[in-house]
Amino acid sequence: MDADLPSHGLFINGTWCEAEERRTFTVSEPATGTPLAHVASASQRDVDRAVAAAREAFDHGPWPHTPPFERARILHALATLIEEHAPELAEIESRDGGVPLRATTFTDIPLGLHMMHVFGELARRSSYEPLPWNDFPTLSWNFVWRNPYGVCAQVIPWNYTFCMTIWKLAPALATGNTIVFKPSSLAPLSAIALFKLIDESGLLPRGVVNLVTGPGAEVGEYLVGHPHVDKIAFTGSTEVGRKIMSIAAPHIRKVTLELGGKSPSLVLPDADLDKAIDGVLFGMFYHAGQLCEAGTRCLVHRSIYTEVVERLVERTRQLRIGDPLDLATDMGPLISWRQRETVERYIAIGREEGATLVTGGGRPRGELYDHGPFVEPTIFTNVHPRSRIAQEEIFGPVLAVTPYDELGEAITIANGTRYGLAASVWSRDLQQAIGVARQIKAGTVGINEHHVLNPYAPFGGFKESGVGREMGVAGMLEYTEPTHIHVDFQQKRDGKLWWDTLLPPLGE
Ligand code: NAP
Ligand code: MG
Repeated sequence: MDADLPSHGLFINGTWCEAEERRTFTVSEPATGTPLAHVASASQRDVDRAVAAAREAFDHGPWPHTPPFERARILHALATLIEEHAPELAEIESRDGGVPLRATTFTDIPLGLHMMHVFGELARRSSYEPLPWNDFPTLSWNFVWRNPYGVCAQVIPWNYTFCMTIWKLAPALATGNTIVFKPSSLAPLSAIALFKLIDESGLLPRGVVNLVTGPGAEVGEYLVGHPHVDKIAFTGSTEVGRKIMSIAAPHIRKVTLELGGKSPSLVLPDADLDKAIDGVLFGMFYHAGQLCEAGTRCLVHRSIYTEVVERLVERTRQLRIGDPLDLATDMGPLISWRQRETVERYIAIGREEGATLVTGGGRPRGELYDHGPFVEPTIFTNVHPRSRIAQEEIFGPVLAVTPYDELGEAITIANGTRYGLAASVWSRDLQQAIGVARQIKAGTVGINEHHVLNPYAPFGGFKESGVGREMGVAGMLEYTEPTHIHVDFQQKRDGKLWWDTLLPPLGE
């Protein structure tokens, strides 16, 4: 272990501690390979302790019974704390995830902050829902009481650590749950930084939030299978999601899954191309294409196909690839060498499949790029909709462009994958665009925008992109278990529901 590097422990029951046998792993900057920190690698017994702390805080602690307005106040206070530390959080996220500082400073950290405030606001209406008066068979007053679900195991991937940590923690906290949280070993540092802020704030009772770190196949899998966990919220690959569903089945555990995607951008013939070109590129190359809802397929009407391709290529060649900490950088490295291998394998597959490589496809040249897994932003055209680069999630900066002749055909292509996470529709005719949006089988459709992450709106996927929703009221309610409470107003015995079905007592 390098003694000069910061060392981060596990956060269990309100205390930072080392992992059993002091096991750690090292986290590095993807752009340079420079080590950033040592992080505790939890054992099964460490996970047991974290789950026990969350269990105790849920079963006997004050948090599930804390009134919603008080939970709201705490979430708003946490948001203020994030705001005060925004510049350092942006830098941590950029170093750890290789995300350009411009994106973390102006988009990611502000979005996380906004989400925290929104769940503060939504917390106030999380527990009580009035129902209409019911008069069958006689008058009753009805309402739904929403109970916090319990101990939640939350596991996130590496590609959007800060925002994803908030969109896991905030709705669960808003509704009174307790949590054991596991970030990805590839980029856990902004999650750890947020836990440090939460700890220092002293705002949450002991055991309400717990952090465990370590390899997914060990720590993550043991956590989601833990018998004392009530609900699992997982974001990551479809492959691991499938496994988690099967782990949850024997205990009938509640699961929400946010998985992969292959989201289309549909460019209609009347699109405002100045905006559509930039929008398609933002949809594709934001976070170097390492976002689940990235617009990785671009479907373009044949009448504008040549122009759109030319302009996409021209703008892509202007993107500045480089050091994530340089404010001029548009695109940083990929998260890991392994991820670059995957991306390069798909670039080779695209060539073999006969798609036309019109820009990128290689590694940028220069000393700056020798120490990190950089890859050029890449565009294939004339991509067959059934080909592998149009069907499989690559999770890197590779755009597949396909022409279409009729709108119906574009919608069929858009819906023709096993995924259904997001889409965008580019058109000046909003009525037409809404009509298209309604025919797309995806959880989020942006009209004249991509990456429309909105904490008021439900987020999640159709088909193999997931189960359930996160964010919005719908996402928050995934963290509750409803009880219908019926208050009966019938005073007369012979007016009761059971009067006609129960035999009258003998002698009456
Ligand atoms: P991943 O391999 O599925 O890992 C996701 C998380 O699960 C990590 O924390 C990982 O830990 C952990 N993990 C790995 N194997 C596990 C197991 N057997 N049991 C329990 N946990 C396990 O995904 P990734 O490669 O990190 O992330 C990329 C994927 O996430 C893409 O497919 C992307 O589409 C998807 N994603 C989806 C959304 C969405 O909202 N729909 C958002 C972002 C990303 P370690 O990393 O420490 O091993
Ligand atoms: Mg992984």
